Amino acid sequence: MPLSKLAEKDLAFLSNFLDALPIQCFIKDPQGYALLMNKACKDALGVPPTLIQGEKIKSFFPSEQWERFVQRDQAIFAGRQPVAYEETFWSAKFEQDRIGYVIKNPVFDEQGHPQFIIGSTLDITEQKQLQQQIDNELEMLKMLAADVPLTQIFQQFILGFEATFAGAMGSILLLDPVEQQLINCVAPSLPTGYCQAIEGLIVGAAGVGSCGNAAHTGQDTIVADIATDPMWTHFASLALSHGLQSCGSVPILSRKGRVLGTFASYRRYACSSQDHELQAIKRGAHLLGLAIERDIAEKQLLADQIALQETAQHTQTIFDNMGDGAITSDAAGLIEMFNTAACRIFGYELEEVLGKNVSMLMPELPISQHNGYVQRDLYSGEMRLIGTSREVEGRRKDGSLFPMRLSVSKIIRAGQSIFISLVSDATLDHQRTQEIHRLAFYDALTGLPNRRLLMERIQQAMVTSARNGHYGAVMFLDLDRFKQLNDTYGHDMGDILLQQVSARLLSCVRECDSVARLGGDEFVILLESLNLQEPGAASQAKIIANKILESLAAPYLLRGFHHRSTPSIGITVFLGEHDAIDELLKKADVAMYQAKAAGRNTACFFDPEMQAAAVIQAELEKNLREALAREDFYLDYQVQVDTAGRAIGAEALLRWQHEELGVVSPMVFIPMAEETGMIVPLGQWALRQACIQLRAWAQHPNSENWLMAVNISPVQIAHAGFVAMVKAVLASTGANPLRLKLELTESALLKNVEDVIEKMTALQAIGVRFALDDFGTGYSSLLYLKRLPLEQLKIDQSFVRDILQDPNDAMIAQTIIALGHSMNLCVIAEGVETQLQRDELVRMGCEAFQGYFYARPSSPQLLLDRWCTT
Ligand code: C2E
Ligand code: MG
Ligand code: MG
Repeated sequence: MPLSKLAEKDLAFLSNFLDALPIQCFIKDPQGYALLMNKACKDALGVPPTLIQGEKIKSFFPSEQWERFVQRDQAIFAGRQPVAYEETFWSAKFEQDRIGYVIKNPVFDEQGHPQFIIGSTLDITEQKQLQQQIDNELEMLKMLAADVPLTQIFQQFILGFEATFAGAMGSILLLDPVEQQLINCVAPSLPTGYCQAIEGLIVGAAGVGSCGNAAHTGQDTIVADIATDPMWTHFASLALSHGLQSCGSVPILSRKGRVLGTFASYRRYACSSQDHELQAIKRGAHLLGLAIERDIAEKQLLADQIALQETAQHTQTIFDNMGDGAITSDAAGLIEMFNTAACRIFGYELEEVLGKNVSMLMPELPISQHNGYVQRDLYSGEMRLIGTSREVEGRRKDGSLFPMRLSVSKIIRAGQSIFISLVSDATLDHQRTQEIHRLAFYDALTGLPNRRLLMERIQQAMVTSARNGHYGAVMFLDLDRFKQLNDTYGHDMGDILLQQVSARLLSCVRECDSVARLGGDEFVILLESLNLQEPGAASQAKIIANKILESLAAPYLLRGFHHRSTPSIGITVFLGEHDAIDELLKKADVAMYQAKAAGRNTACFFDPEMQAAAVIQAELEKNLREALAREDFYLDYQVQVDTAGRAIGAEALLRWQHEELGVVSPMVFIPMAEETGMIVPLGQWALRQACIQLRAWAQHPNSENWLMAVNISPVQIAHAGFVAMVKAVLASTGANPLRLKLELTESALLKNVEDVIEKMTALQAIGVRFALDDFGTGYSSLLYLKRLPLEQLKIDQSFVRDILQDPNDAMIAQTIIALGHSMNLCVIAEGVETQLQRDELVRMGCEAFQGYFYARPSSPQLLLDRWCTT
């Protein structure tokens, strides 16, 4: 039914009804003129309430929009179907384009001609904006996830925001927390000049605009009209000159509420931001906060990483510039850092050591050894070394070892122990120490020990002599007429002579002796380990002095000149520490002047008696050979008894009946015979005599089981024919090998022990027994002792002598007895002089005895008379 046919009353009712609806409702004729519009429709389009129809309606729409409406309506009539679509329209009420959801229904008359269109429009602008803004926000989240740079995210976000909110121009500013400035303006639609002007704006003061206030207060700051609002006092003209009239700004906050920047929406006209737009701005600010925070965190991370790298580099640089080697290792000993100096010291490249165990830098030694401690400490983290600096052995890559100074400290990093080792090569220090030692103790010209070292050596020699009873000697030597050479040919020549003299002196003495230069042409020679008797010692010293005289008297070649020089030598012998060192040197010095007075090129003793003894000694030496030929020797026998005091045998002791001197002690002539090699025939002679006597004992029932002990010199046993000689003597005399006991001293074992063992074993095989004489005074190694085919240990008489007075000697005797028993050897004590000594030895477990307490050495007849009777 056409509208015109409706009754006035009905029409009024319909109008009232439609006016009550919030949806825009209208009816239009086919020309597009409104026949009816409800209130909501008139409000939206800005049509006055009275005007409802006619051409005038046209004036309320922009003409191009009107044309669009008309064309659309005609298409709907043509389609003859109801249609629904979205459409943008200009709203006078909002003074902006709005989005409407339009439903139009074409109505035709009975003839089918277009009659009118019934339509309704729902304003969906807000929903649309919300949807669009959500899309925009989603887009931003995607960009965040895709690591898009912050400025680009801002740019995109603002463009999306502006597309949603028509007329809005977004801006994002960041707040520099230190300077309290707004910076890094991103505002794609704002005039560039304006953006540049507000860049660096200091917040806080009054009147610096919406963003300045929002950033300073942390509050939303919505300014509807910049021109009038006091918030904009200082910037209003700037904004207005760029055509900006309103600005709503919200702070961008961190999660902890700190202001990071602002997000604002400008418009070119005065208006207050709509509620939903404000909500969108706030949500946007929230998301922007996340983006900025993440960016800050990332930048911080990067900065931290760079700082860390720089710190590590810095540390490494310090490490590498250290003069000492520096190594860090973890609790397991694995190397973490190794500086350039360490590479140089050990000869490794850095890559060869990183991650390896520090043990590679030290020799592999058993844990019990000195270095082992270090290694174990480093591994286990026990670190007894921490804080101390000590010297250990280091090992270079090529395997060579070097003295290494090491100090270790421990730090805790992230709960883990880290060990820092500082190392330096102490080789140079050692060389320096040696050099200092050399300068301090040696003469620069000849390289011989100087006075200081000589003093030390003499002191040491005295101590040794006191302990082992051997004499020593000091010789003072001075070159005759040395001054003359110096004055004539100069000191250079004198120096050359001194060097040659030193070399010759060294060639004259034994290894255990010392040659020292006191200065000028004065030399001192220290002889050690001479004879146990003074005359013997004097004789040995004299022999060496003669050797020196001979050697130094030979011509010298000094720079092409032949030169002759002789020395004068003063000698004094010493035993133990009776004399002070100075005293000793003075004596030798005095003796040396005697030698000079005696016409030079000679040696003199300090003690005239000694001088005489030495002369006799020399004489004796000459006599010794003749004596053997003349058989001026004989044997005495000293009984050996068991605990019950019964004779079990005797020791044969050699005697020399000198035609002038009477009986000479074996202590004097045996060393002489050893030095000259005469001991070989002499010893053989003695053995032979003893075997003849042994054969005689075998004839008598009371002595047939006696053992004959015969002393054998180390020189004898070292002789190649020794075993054959013993066997030959046994065979020729018919003595029973089972009753023969050879006494060796420990000194026989010092050289070539294997050879001695072999010989002893060969003789043991035919029944010969062996005793170790003077036991306790030598340096026997227990290791050898076990391998010797021994039957008996003979406690040296020096321990027996003081066994009751000296607890030390008693202890030694007791130990020897225990040792002998543990090795299944029987033990005999020699030099037993008293009943008390014998009792004490019995108490200790000693089973055989020899000494003046029982009998002095005597002729065989006396021995038989006294001991062979039952
Ligand atoms: P030795 O083999 O240790 O002989 C023991 C020495 O102690 C002997 O001295 C003996 O007379 C002495 N003596 C024995 N009982 C006592 C005592 O109760 N008190 C003291 N104070 N001395 C006692 P002797 O006869 O002067 O011989 C000295 C050293 O000469 C012997 O020491 C031995 O090493 C060596 N000797 C003796 N005869 C020979 C021999 O035929 N050949 C070799 N190579 N050396 C011999
Ligand atoms: Mg003996
Ligand atoms: Mg002895």
